[in-house]
Formats: sequence, C-alpha cells, structure tokens
Amino acid sequence: MNLPDPAVHVSAAVEVAADVLVIPNEHVSLVPNIGIIGGSEAVLVVDTGLGLANASEVLAFASEVARGRRVHLTTTHFHPEHAFGASAFDSYLVNRAQADDLRRKGSGYLEMFRGFGGAVAERLAGVEVPVPDLVFDGVHALDLGGRTVLLRPTGRGHTPGDQVVEVPDAGVLFTGDLAETGQFAIFPWFPPHDTDVSGLGWIDVLERLIASEPRTVVPGHGSVGGLAVLEDVRDYLRELRDETWRRRSAADLAEVVAEVRAVLVERHPEWAGREWIEPGVGCLCSEGLSA
Ligand SMILES: [Zn+2]
Repeated sequence: MNLPDPAVHVSAAVEVAADVLVIPNEHVSLVPNIGIIGGSEAVLVVDTGLGLANASEVLAFASEVARGRRVHLTTTHFHPEHAFGASAFDSYLVNRAQADDLRRKGSGYLEMFRGFGGAVAERLAGVEVPVPDLVFDGVHALDLGGRTVLLRPTGRGHTPGDQVVEVPDAGVLFTGDLAETGQFAIFPWFPPHDTDVSGLGWIDVLERLIASEPRTVVPGHGSVGGLAVLEDVRDYLRELRDETWRRRSAADLAEVVAEVRAVLVERHPEWAGREWIEPGVGCLCSEGLSA
C-alpha cells in the first residue's frame, strides 16, 4: 500500500464557534479532524492524529491556544489515527467501552497499521497502545470553566467504544468516524476475527444524534457542516442496508456485493472509499441473518 504521509497541519486550524477550533484533515486519509475546545480554566483536545510526532504538534498548538490553561485529551474511538498519539498528553480521559477497545484490540490495530508500510509505519515508530489516565462510565460532564462539554458514549456503531463530544453552549458536535463526508462510511468488518462494527447500531446512533439537533457537526474525516452531515451518513447506511437485504437470499455473497456496489457507486459517483462498500455489505448481511 502506498498511502500519503498522514501529517496533521495545525496551521490550517479554523474557529468553528467561539473558542472551538478544528484542525481540518484536508481530506488526507488517516488524518482525522482534530478539535480544541476552550473554557476559562482548561482546554480539551479531541483526537490526536497518527503517532507521537503528530500528537506532539497538536499538543504544542493546543498549549499555545491554552495560554496556561490546563490541557486535557479525549478520543472519539480507539482507531490509530484518532488515538495513537495519546501518550504525548498527561490527562487522557475516555469512556469505559473505548478503554476496553484499546486494551482488547489496540495492539492488533497497531500491527495492522504498521503493515501499511511507508509513512504510516514511520509515524507509528515507538508508539505503544495508549493507556488512559481516567476512564469513566456513562456520560462524562467535563467542566472547562464557564463551559461544560459532554463526553457521550453512543453504544456500538463504527466501533463498540464510540463516543461523541458535545459543546452544548455552542451547538457543536464532534462525531469521530460515526460520520464522514465525501466518502463511503468506514466499516472495519474483518471476519472472523473482528466483527464489532454494527450497521444497524450505527443507524440508531445517528438517529439519536440527529434528534439532538447540533448546529455544527465535525465529522471524523471530511468537511465540517450542519445537521446534513449526519443525515447524509444515515441515509447512506439505510441505502446500504436496504440494497443488501433486498438481495440477501442470493446464494453468492460476491454477487450481492457486486450488485450493491454498482448501485451505490452510481448514486454516489464522487465519493472516495469505495473499498468500504464490500465490508459494509458483509456486516449488514450478517446482521440481517441474525435479525
Ligand atoms: Zn475509525
């Protein structure tokens, strides 16, 4: 695999609400959108970028923004480009299910990503599976001083440990990979070893997030937008489910994949990440059979 260097560019940061910054991923794969949310006493960073060099740059930038305020980190889920720089920070908070994902699957993902070779493997040199400083159960209200952010575990969707970060006073929602724009939804479906992603759970999670009516949605990858960011992913996941289930009596999974893929590519010709359609079909086939 020859992937571009997943470098985070802190100089591209934009303010999406008062004291809420996003370092955009600029549509580079394995670079996440990174958040920096400020209160009067502390600053919360959301996601690290891949590896320690990226995370150190993010920390240096966040410290500059913080001007003496305490800097905390949380991550939206355990995937390496979101979390595998966490050891650069000294206050890393995550939800219980995500901590479990890190412990259970972190080393396997580290190996898998190192296997991509090139710049990705270089970025992971010296990286160990992150260990959180604080693990919480349920929704964690983090008081940053004059602003409370909510770290909300969503239940199983893209991963079992997904959590979103809400900034209620500004109407901003950080979704991690529960939402992306300009690409097919990422299904980390690798049977038989890893079948944790749930297409049906993901649709339910998005319905709940849409009902909460955020004004600004920061997806895991792609462009910051409004409620439509969530609605578009939900609509795609419904299409994927319906097109898959319509054909699930077919004997041959490869045939189902080919047909669904053709339909979805025709509907979304401009989207990247076509390789994620096949695992999505596999996931929803399996969920359809057990439904
Ligand atoms: Zn992910």
